[in-house]
Amino acid sequence: MRKKMKLNIVKCSECGKQYPCPGEDIFIVDEAHLCPGCFFGDASPIEIYPIGYVSAVQERGDSESTDQKNLAVSEIELLPSQKRFMYKLEEEEALTIVYYLHKSGPIRSRFRRKLDGKEVGVFASHTPHRPSPIGIQDVCLMQIEGTTLTVEGLDAFLGTPVLDIKSGGHGKS
Ligand SMILES: [Zn+2]
Repeated sequence: MRKKMKLNIVKCSECGKQYPCPGEDIFIVDEAHLCPGCFFGDASPIEIYPIGYVSAVQERGDSESTDQKNLAVSEIELLPSQKRFMYKLEEEEALTIVYYLHKSGPIRSRFRRKLDGKEVGVFASHTPHRPSPIGIQDVCLMQIEGTTLTVEGLDAFLGTPVLDIKSGGHGKS
């Protein structure tokens, strides 16, 4: 979730508490370190298990993509236990994939988004570097073999934990 760097001690820029870095307990926002209390107040982290992982990704150049016409082909390997939830899944053409942005890095609150160069805040963008690093993407289901799904249009790294799969399109249940 945070970038790899030498282990050292960093100070929260707001409260001054010291933390080992890299660690789970420090965030980098606009190049300043923030402890969970200063960043999230009393909110607690939520524990969610992955249902599978992105197990193959077609080679591409840039990964931090907000490119709308990304037609990468990826494989998602679901855990064997998830097989029971796949009934009639092969009849769906469009799926929505929810995943954890495990390579998310330091957050910049405002920047020029790739889509149109407009300066926006994180929530007006698709950046993977966000306070709650969840990715969501509509994809085309191409094939299912066992618990492995081949999908088109997923912009996620190899090894990305997948949190959920939903029938695609909006407003469907
Ligand atoms: Zn703090």
